[in-house]
Amino acid sequence: MNNPSAVVTAPGSTVLGTPGEDLNPFHIAQQQFDRACLYLPKLKAGLIEYLKRPDRLITVEFPIETEDGDVRTFVGYRCLHNQMRGPGKGGIRFHPDVSADEVRALASWMTWKCAVVGVPFGGAKGGVVCDPKTLTKNDLRKITRRLVVALGDAIGPYIDVPAPDVNTNGETMAWIYDTYQVLHSGKNNLPVVTGKPVDLGGSLGRREATARGCLFAAQRALESGLIPGMSSVEGAKVVIQGFGNAGSIAAELFAEAGARVIAISDSRAAVLDPSGIDPALAVAHKAQTGSVAELAGTVPISAAELLATSCDILIPAALENQIHARNVDSIQTRLVVEAANGPTTPTADRVLHARGIPVLPDILANSGGVTVSYFEWLQNIENEQWDLDQVNSKLLRYMNRATDKVIALLGEINESLDEIGQQRAERGLVEVDLEPVDLRTAAYTGAIQRVASVALERGIWP
Ligand code: GLU
Repeated sequence: MNNPSAVVTAPGSTVLGTPGEDLNPFHIAQQQFDRACLYLPKLKAGLIEYLKRPDRLITVEFPIETEDGDVRTFVGYRCLHNQMRGPGKGGIRFHPDVSADEVRALASWMTWKCAVVGVPFGGAKGGVVCDPKTLTKNDLRKITRRLVVALGDAIGPYIDVPAPDVNTNGETMAWIYDTYQVLHSGKNNLPVVTGKPVDLGGSLGRREATARGCLFAAQRALESGLIPGMSSVEGAKVVIQGFGNAGSIAAELFAEAGARVIAISDSRAAVLDPSGIDPALAVAHKAQTGSVAELAGTVPISAAELLATSCDILIPAALENQIHARNVDSIQTRLVVEAANGPTTPTADRVLHARGIPVLPDILANSGGVTVSYFEWLQNIENEQWDLDQVNSKLLRYMNRATDKVIALLGEINESLDEIGQQRAERGLVEVDLEPVDLRTAAYTGAIQRVASVALERGIWP
């Protein structure tokens, strides 16, 4: 839909009547998990209960003296969801909406993401409740240092390894490394955090990795026939919500691969140019003005209109709960590729599934970031630097393998619904209507199975 004024955000939606959609991210993560467990009748109930909960959640509070001379107290969290497959791994975000339940959800998604893409980490996530837009660089550095000191030995190269997330970047990771190094001098601490600047042990290709992974997953899924009549991203009309690390680089990489990026947005504005936006110009414009607003050649549209823009690939690359019960009917795309974590609610998932619009789920589509974080961690342990081709070709292998596995699982599960139903009955589990699964549920089942079998191989201690 190229006429923004014609866009209607879902009045008359079939799901508008859904009273009180629960948007608590941790409840959503648990719903997704529970849904996948329906298709895993052999898993012990107690093991399911264990895998659903985080291992620990640390809350810290600390003051900093802000640039304006005031003293302000900040709340930070670090959640370690599960460490069966390795140390905790996951980003740290700075955002006013950070909460204990958001961090719990994001940490659990990291567990499943690492299992889907096959990197030997558990899931973790952290955040500080703050608005970086109202803080100076010095304030953010102080917040980062106090956070690392407050977390103490809860992070470490073989314990829990942070990385960038919303509103944090290589510079933040350098502060994390530096603070940790001061506290633990005399050993190689580079692998304590990933996403570092390249001259400080960061990996080539890490900054682009989340977006590149999205492109690789989308390309692989299209090549394998996920969308009839669309075998590649070439020529595809792409809409991207969010113009941070994932969204802006996805715009560049999808355009490089021959797609046409027709609409982009950030937290302040959304813009449309049906003839195609030049991502490099958009990046330069945002660097200069702080927003994509008034980008040359574009017309302004609303945030709701952006999501409702008719396209071939819609890439939510911002925050959670963007595609939900009240706007899902307005979505007009052939494929959703989740660069963000948790952008689609379970209700919206069901509607998109019913409408035949596949969603490449976050735990697959955005797993390129943590995959190259794993490469960075390996390089740091060995004190090596791989070249960019090596990083990208390895990333391609990981993304292809994970995408193939999820698509294969989708087919396997949907062909054996009767069998799964019988197994449920044999085990005396409640009778449920086992509907064909979507890609998210397929990805979850593979991931849960992977973590569960490691838990059983290791043996529940003692
Ligand atoms: N924050 C990113 C994510 O959500 C990257 C995590 C990492 O590299 O550890 O996947």
